[in-house]
Amino acid sequence: MRRLLVLSVLLQAAFGHENFVGHQVLRISAADEAQVQKVKELEELEHLKLDFWRDPVRPGIPIDVRVPFSSIQAVKVFLESEGISYDIMIEDIQSLLDEEKTQMLAFQARALSTKTFNYATYHTLEEIYEFMDLLVAENPQLVSKIQIGNTFENRPIYVLKFSTGGTNRPAIWIDTGIHSREWVTQASGVWFAKKITEAYTQDPAFTAILDNMDIFLEIVTNPDGFAYTHKTNRMWRKTRSRTQGSLCVGADPNRNWDAGFGLAGASNNPCSDTYHGKFANSEVEVKSIVDFVKKHGSIKAFISIHSYSQLLLYPYGYTSEPAPDKEELDQLAKSAVTALTSLYGTKYKYGSIIDTIYQASGSTVDWTYSQGIKYSFTFELRDTGRRGFLLPASQIIPTAEETWLALLTIMDHTFKHPY
Ligand SMILES: [Zn+2]
Repeated sequence: MRRLLVLSVLLQAAFGHENFVGHQVLRISAADEAQVQKVKELEELEHLKLDFWRDPVRPGIPIDVRVPFSSIQAVKVFLESEGISYDIMIEDIQSLLDEEKTQMLAFQARALSTKTFNYATYHTLEEIYEFMDLLVAENPQLVSKIQIGNTFENRPIYVLKFSTGGTNRPAIWIDTGIHSREWVTQASGVWFAKKITEAYTQDPAFTAILDNMDIFLEIVTNPDGFAYTHKTNRMWRKTRSRTQGSLCVGADPNRNWDAGFGLAGASNNPCSDTYHGKFANSEVEVKSIVDFVKKHGSIKAFISIHSYSQLLLYPYGYTSEPAPDKEELDQLAKSAVTALTSLYGTKYKYGSIIDTIYQASGSTVDWTYSQGIKYSFTFELRDTGRRGFLLPASQIIPTAEETWLALLTIMDHTFKHPY
């Protein structure tokens, strides 16, 4: 066992991959506000290098944290001494990553068409960009590829446009993967792209939508981060921009929007995973979308897809003041979740960001809502923490299928309630 461990460490080092041998994910259950505060104190101890997958919010809401091997003893002793209960959700992160890698390698053959493309495995940035080109080549009347900018590391940022004609029709925007480690989202985005081309003409309700509206789909919304999750650190969430005066890299692209920017619910520490960036729209991956949305001027629904937690959320995140359209958004969220659950029984919660998870400032949908895009939603896809960001590839298709039903509900409502 020990020799295997050593071998694994050496192999990882040889490939320049960050190693997660012995890292565990703990689920902490804080019984009262005092215990929540204790866990927050733990979060402040930078030397422990903790990675909170679900932040401490309030009693009753589970806290998931990845603990490096070197900090496990200290963290467990701390929790036990404070009488805070926890479970081990993931025993060893690296063994799950090895499994994921093996699964990917087994399906590495390059697809020659979107028919033979394997939707049930995770793909690299290059493979997803190839998929997009195949889809465009196969459906030239329906799909086109738009470049909306270049990333910090100068990768192209692409958006797929699905359109049956007209000029500047009202449109629906969907993005996946703004947080790079949330791999089931980019994988679902790929599946949605293919599904859109199939559902048009096959599904009458969807056909009516696409006969009148355009759909924009950004599958890899944080390409630098995504490439980094494949090559170096599977747990990377942020962009890869550099901040002068700090050794830490990247900003949280879901805290970088110009809505409550820099308020509570984002960090001003460049080393934090929720660092809001130097200023609103400092991240080119965010700014490119902002420019696109403003220039288009007729986006009617904006859906930004994350994982995990199984939630459907609407504004606001930065303030507890209710959104003016709260009642309608809440009803629509309820319908969308009902449709989603009808397929496989997957349970979702829904509500405003601040009421349902926590205060988050500078988030995507708060900004889009502030721009008059009434139907602004954020999803948190599967699961609820059993595997977290390391969702097995076998769950990609079921996740995408059920989410599609919720998307259809939102798109159909948007189509039938023009404004
Ligand atoms: Zn996310």
